[in-house]
Amino acid sequence: MRTKIISFDADGTVVNNDFVNEFWFKKLPELYANKEGIGTGEAREILTSHYDRIGDEDLRWYQPRYWFDRFDLPGTAEEVITQIKENHDLRLYDDAVEVIEGLSGEYRLIVVSNSPREFLDFSLKGVSDRFERIFSCVSDFGEVKKHRGVYEKVADLLSAQPGMFLHVGDHWKFDYQVPREIGMKTAFIDRGDGEVEDRDDGVITDLREITKVLEGSST
Ligand SMILES: [Mg+2]
Repeated sequence: MRTKIISFDADGTVVNNDFVNEFWFKKLPELYANKEGIGTGEAREILTSHYDRIGDEDLRWYQPRYWFDRFDLPGTAEEVITQIKENHDLRLYDDAVEVIEGLSGEYRLIVVSNSPREFLDFSLKGVSDRFERIFSCVSDFGEVKKHRGVYEKVADLLSAQPGMFLHVGDHWKFDYQVPREIGMKTAFIDRGDGEVEDRDDGVITDLREITKVLEGSST
C-alpha cells in the first residue's frame, strides 16, 4: 500500500530534549533540594531514581502534576513550565525541519508523541502548522504509545489504513516495534546514543534518509 501519511515522534526526533530535560533534571531537582535542604546534585539523583522506578511505560512518568504531588513541591507544575518557556531557546533538529518542509506538499503529516500537551505544543510551535494532527497520547488518550491500540486509534481518527503510514521516532519499542505490529511502516532515528544493537531495516541516522525508506516501500 502506498504511503500517504508520515507520522513523527516529537522529543528526540523533531525537537531535541533540552526543554523537557530542563523541567525533569534541573527545575524539579532545584525545588526538591530547596525543600529538603540538600544539594541539587543529590536531589537530582534521588528524583532520577524515582523516575527510573516508575519507568517510561507508565503514564505517571510523563505527567508533571503527578511528580509535583508526589514530592509535595511548592507552586505548580504549570508555573514552572511557564518559567522554562519564557527563557528557553528551542532547538528543532535541522534535518527534521528540512524533511517536514519537503514532505508537507506530498504527504499528510502528523505527530504521535508521548509528551504531555503542556510540553508538546510549545516544543513544536515552529512547525506545528505543517501537521494535520498533533496527538499527545498521554493527554489525548490517557495512554502511553506502548501498545498497538494507540496506533489503531490514530489510524481510525484519520480514517486511514495502517499500511498508509510511515511512523518515525527515536524509541525502539514505542516508535519502531509497536506501530510495525499493526502493519505501519516504521523508521528508527538513531541520534547516536547507541541504544540499538541490531541494525534492522528502517534504521536511519538522519531524517533526510526517510525518502530512501519511502522509495524502498513504495509498492
Ligand atoms: Mg522520542
